[in-house]
Amino acid sequence: MTEFIIASNNQGKVRELDRILNPLGVTAVTAKSKGITLDDVEETGTTFAQNAELKARAAFERTGMPSIADDSGLSVDALGGEPGIYSARYAGEGADDAQRIAKLLKNLEGVPAQKRTAHFTSSICCIIDENTIVRAEGKCYGVIADSPKGDGGFGYDPVFLMDDGRTFAQLSPEEKDGVSHRGRALKELYAQLGKILSNK
Ligand code: IMP
Repeated sequence: MTEFIIASNNQGKVRELDRILNPLGVTAVTAKSKGITLDDVEETGTTFAQNAELKARAAFERTGMPSIADDSGLSVDALGGEPGIYSARYAGEGADDAQRIAKLLKNLEGVPAQKRTAHFTSSICCIIDENTIVRAEGKCYGVIADSPKGDGGFGYDPVFLMDDGRTFAQLSPEEKDGVSHRGRALKELYAQLGKILSNK
């Protein structure tokens, strides 16, 4: 198994990335599990892709190991694309998922179902060595529910409704991987990584 450093301390993401990368012979490990502390990276990019690359590069430079980072978030049409790249910080530093969801629902108060359209984006950047960078992006479209439902997943999952009326938090992990922004981005990443790793 090749080890890739996952430049994230979000356990939800690490678990998802590990599960999806395993079939490629890749194990996702945190820098912490290697005894290395990653400094916080200032997410100064204006796109998910730029922020993913900033995080992957910082981890690669710090650890010298293949590093992978994802930058993701929720864009809500009725809020002009907010919270977008600010999804993690939407309710301020130190706030939790419940507080971010509460703020989102408050900002959407009175907005009818047909105008509550939204999408998740996941941008992934994988730096294998100085000369090998792989980038992938996936999106997933849905609607923001009036109230949270389900207790699986993480982040905004309890209010992200799919066509079948279930929220992301009501899906099994495998079901979520099959339709999610991150699942889609990773599928694209697979195809590219599979070719690169088989030539190494
Ligand atoms: P970052 O990519 O770590 O900067 O933060 C992304 C933020 O977007 C997280 O804090 C979550 O709140 C949200 N997010 C990203 N992906 C998902 C997902 O699959 N489900 C729910 N929320 C997500």
